[in-house]
Amino acid sequence: MASVRPSIIIIAQQLLRSSSAVNILSRFKYIYFPVGENMNVKEIEKYLEKNFNKLPEGCKQCVRGEKLVLFITGICNNNCYYCPLSKKRKNKDVIYANERLITTVEEAIEEAKLCSSKGVGITGGNPLLKINRTVKFLKALKKEFGEFHAHLYTTPETVSEENLKLLKEAGLDEIRLHPTKIFNEGYDEEYIKFLCEKLDLCNKYIEDVGVEIPAIPNMEDEILKLAEAIDGISKFMNINELEFSEENYYELEKRGFKPKDDVSNAIAGSEETALKVIKEFKGNLFIHYCPSVLKDAIQMRNRLINRAKNVAKPYEVITEDGLLLRGIMIFDNEDELKEMAEILEENGIDFEIIGKNIYLNPFILEDIIEEMKRQRFPITFSAYISELYPTSDALEVERIPLITKKLRFRRRRNKGRL
Ligand code: SF4
Repeated sequence: MASVRPSIIIIAQQLLRSSSAVNILSRFKYIYFPVGENMNVKEIEKYLEKNFNKLPEGCKQCVRGEKLVLFITGICNNNCYYCPLSKKRKNKDVIYANERLITTVEEAIEEAKLCSSKGVGITGGNPLLKINRTVKFLKALKKEFGEFHAHLYTTPETVSEENLKLLKEAGLDEIRLHPTKIFNEGYDEEYIKFLCEKLDLCNKYIEDVGVEIPAIPNMEDEILKLAEAIDGISKFMNINELEFSEENYYELEKRGFKPKDDVSNAIAGSEETALKVIKEFKGNLFIHYCPSVLKDAIQMRNRLINRAKNVAKPYEVITEDGLLLRGIMIFDNEDELKEMAEILEENGIDFEIIGKNIYLNPFILEDIIEEMKRQRFPITFSAYISELYPTSDALEVERIPLITKKLRFRRRRNKGRL
């Protein structure tokens, strides 16, 4: 091993100039975030540039990846056929701060700090079914961060004067009502009247009041009537592109909905419905269409980048999609691991040992291996580059093998087989 040492010094010195950095990054540029046919990322960015100031405050922060998504409970008294919640969340009384399962306010604060969040979006389930918990978390976040914009999603049925007073006192800035009945049972004038009364009530207590709905294909007439009814009462209406999830797939398929393309979860016709409503609506209500690509390619990516900047270890590389790249060497033999660790240390290379693995910069790892091969030096470890989310679960999305050690089989003397 000793003869590798001088070469590694050169590798370390050359690292920043190394073209392999560029090569590796380009390998990871494939799309994790499905881009639909209709509106692509460029068009969305153009749309956002033009409309950014008109967006509700909660959306502005969300687009920039600055919102902590606080899933306060999975409990909900509705049963929307398009509900996208996963099995581990739907109707489960669990709390998540972004992707992290939590139980305490302190964990929510910690996650907000790790993501450099500037606000919180409280969602569920229905947060108002756990009003005391919602208020407790909201108050704690406001107390910890001071200026911390908070918006909350709920249904008109659970809005009450009592809840609104508690939310106002806790500092809620924005509330969004999801009128589920229209999309599950059809348009109903009585229900619209009821919704408007609830919006009026919200206006008495909360600064910004809006409506948030799914863009169900072919429901443009109902959505247009809804927009007209709430114009002047609601500050905005957000229309979300309808998406398949593991949980709602069967129900959506049963109703004849199809994916809009091979790479996206979005439903064919959903975007057309939303854009038609925006085109045909003649009132003053601000209508914002939120395509799935905006959620995935822009909001989520920005949030990942914010978190990655805070959690990346010195040897990890942040990709342009906000994921982390790390190199991993796996040793069978402890002495060989120690020797490699000494070499890295002598050359001032950042690394970490966990169990029988050495974690280090992926580009340095590639160069070390190349140099060892060039010098025909025996390689005593397996190695790969791992790409993972910077989230609390550190989900690995890709593994690129660099060195795969051959398994050594020994012939059993007695039985004469492997
Ligand atoms: S109100 Fe929301 S959480 Fe509840 S079932 Fe409908 S989509 Fe799901």
